[in-house]
Amino acid sequence: MATKTKHASPAKRLPKLPAERLSSPPDQKFACRDCPARCCRLPWNIRFGSDEARRYLEEPWVRERVGEEGALVIARGVLPMREEDGRLQCVFLDDDLLCSMQKQFGHEYIPRSCQAFPFGFVRDEKDVVVAQLSQLCPSIRDNYGEPVDGQLRAKLEQRGDTERMSKALATLSGVILPQPQYLRAVKHWDDQLAAGGSPAATLARLYDWTTAFERALPPGAERAADASIDAALALASAEEPAPLAPRKAPSFYARVLFAHLLGNLCYPSRVRQAHRVGEASWTQLHALRSAWNKGAWVLGRGTVDMLFVPRPFKLQRVRTVDRFLDGDEGAVVRDYLRLVLQRRHIFSSPRHLLAAVLDLSLATVVISRFARCRAAADGRVKVSLEDVREGISVAELVLLSHAALSEQSRLMKNLRWLLLTKRESFRALLATEA
Ligand code: SF4
Repeated sequence: MATKTKHASPAKRLPKLPAERLSSPPDQKFACRDCPARCCRLPWNIRFGSDEARRYLEEPWVRERVGEEGALVIARGVLPMREEDGRLQCVFLDDDLLCSMQKQFGHEYIPRSCQAFPFGFVRDEKDVVVAQLSQLCPSIRDNYGEPVDGQLRAKLEQRGDTERMSKALATLSGVILPQPQYLRAVKHWDDQLAAGGSPAATLARLYDWTTAFERALPPGAERAADASIDAALALASAEEPAPLAPRKAPSFYARVLFAHLLGNLCYPSRVRQAHRVGEASWTQLHALRSAWNKGAWVLGRGTVDMLFVPRPFKLQRVRTVDRFLDGDEGAVVRDYLRLVLQRRHIFSSPRHLLAAVLDLSLATVVISRFARCRAAADGRVKVSLEDVREGISVAELVLLSHAALSEQSRLMKNLRWLLLTKRESFRALLATEA
């Protein structure tokens, strides 16, 4: 297969940034090749800065390519997309699956986030810049190409910025935990995931452990002394864990979650985005079909056509596919959750400590449900490793890497808060895939 160079870094470019300590997963490789431009053909908002928007709007070639409609989208700082073969794709993508903007003006002209993809960067508690390598990219996910170590500096320069971990997170009762304190809880989570077992069962225990830890902190205090943290950690670990019994059918909130996140990956919901340009799909028919899609997910009945699944499938078939989180494929999910903790992006927006456990839990049920859907579409009763890896790609897209919390819908915000504060609903969600 011909090698692609769409996201290749300029060969002689020298890093201008001061020396930083950089880190990436050991033995990780990357090369943009053998891939049908997956990252340019996804239903996501690819954002860029106002300086880039201005530059594009001043360029006649760009204006001609995107038209009036596309120029309005660019003015909002988003790459316009058009529908092609039932998917959204960047308006600058050519039929040869290479970027026309790069061909016209060179690699340094395209948006910084495109230049740097699949790399992002977060500065951790030791001031090390940790590479965030999106598992959406097949090269990262399947680990082929050149060692990433030699590419980090150029990618960091292309990206132009790093995110920072929150200096503090709050408990649900409002106690502020500075970074060194909340990282002690995170260490416990990581140890528990490393110990093995079903990630669903482990996360149910971690929810109980974290709420017990928070309850054991001195009531009414805005901050806790390190001695109080020691005592609260010991008390939480002394509690007897409650086993998680699997549910036969998805809980109501699991259905709502699937309808919202996985339903949005189904046609035509996935092409009904505000940054879509070109022939309108905003017809009554598409709106109705999109609503029907969501209804099918809530009911668990009906045929859907989902992204990354090779053919449409009946949702009722998914229940014939075995659950897998306590088997070998579950270990792949566990390793991914540990990677999410280690890359620290999950702690880059200030919020509640328990929200990180919730994020890992949402990702786990989405990966599991997606993998079972993909197996069902293939007529299998067991998931394969490829099903699980694609599920991880989906979790990256809709939850843990590319979905900005600030852009979440009201429904998702309410659902998250409800799951965060209602233990039985939280456990029922995990029990859906346990
Ligand atoms: S998904 Fe990865 S390999 Fe595919 S085009 Fe994008 S950067 Fe290249």
